[in-house]
Amino acid sequence: MGNSEIMVRYLRRATLTGLASAGAYERARTSRWRRERLLILCYHGVSIEDEHEWRPRLFMRPECLAERFELLRNRGYSVLPLAEALERLYADDLPPASVALTFDDGGYDFYKSAYPLLQQYELPATVYQTTYYADYQQPVFNLICSYMLWKSRGEVLEPAGRVPVRQRMDLRTEESRQSVVSELMALSARENLSGRDKHEIACRLAEFLEIDWGSLLAKRILHVMSPREIAEISRSGVSVQLHTHRHRTPLDEELFRKEIAENRKRIREITGSAPTHFCYPLGNYDGQFLPWLRQEGVLSAVTCDPALAAGDSHPLLLPRLVSTSAQSMSEFEAWLSGIGHMLSRRGKRRRIPRAALDCQGGRLGFPSAR
Ligand SMILES: [Zn+2]
Repeated sequence: MGNSEIMVRYLRRATLTGLASAGAYERARTSRWRRERLLILCYHGVSIEDEHEWRPRLFMRPECLAERFELLRNRGYSVLPLAEALERLYADDLPPASVALTFDDGGYDFYKSAYPLLQQYELPATVYQTTYYADYQQPVFNLICSYMLWKSRGEVLEPAGRVPVRQRMDLRTEESRQSVVSELMALSARENLSGRDKHEIACRLAEFLEIDWGSLLAKRILHVMSPREIAEISRSGVSVQLHTHRHRTPLDEELFRKEIAENRKRIREITGSAPTHFCYPLGNYDGQFLPWLRQEGVLSAVTCDPALAAGDSHPLLLPRLVSTSAQSMSEFEAWLSGIGHMLSRRGKRRRIPRAALDCQGGRLGFPSAR
């Protein structure tokens, strides 16, 4: 049995019997096993107001993010830019306890709440930027509807023709509110509504719910960064990468590749450099996407399957830990150190046909030492 396996056994036992302590974290963090692995962290939103109360698994308070950054800085973690981290992962050349920070969607909240913290802590980060709403500076339709319904939670309302919803609007549970959002989304798809039509519906919904629409717009709640803001974060070193133009992954090859191409074109126009790293919107991946991504010149793609990436991880199916405020600091630290990975149940991953997996890091442009 190798040293790393003994370490894993020791830690698993220590943690399961409640002995996990600063000492156990330290042993895991400085182990050879951990050194050969990269933890890619995923963040979604950082609240401008109370979004973390609406979606605690998507948003966190800036104070909570700062606490996590503090821990990264003070406990000897090596936070690397994603591209460098991946190159060094596949070259078996990672520094101790390496971590890469990624933020999904490129919302205005990133610019307002996360970007200043990244600068303060001098941490490199990647933003997976969706671009449709960057040019169309209005709140993201399904999100703003869901947020406003949550703001009116507890009420039961009759739409009575004031908003295009047939069902009685029962806003008492997350599920019943989601059913109203689903009806609006179905209407939008059925009638092929334009961005302007959807904006009009959201505005009417705000009026119906007696929510100050003007104030939501002024604060740019649930907006995507503008091209000027994206250019600014890119100039100051944030890596802006692919997340599809309209935040979707069609199952049709032509449409899928169009999403990537439009997204890449827009990011290149805004930042002056061509993105080659991709994040599956909503963590939805499928084996058939892999050859399409390769043909689009994509070097890496991340999922939301929680694990540490290793030298044998497929570069287009890289695992990532979604860091949420629902996680305690000790759970977070367990993941950083590697213990979280060792103890997690990883049986539920999607099966990808072998034919789709026919390339390893080296062939995608990562020099592989193995
Ligand atoms: Zn996303």
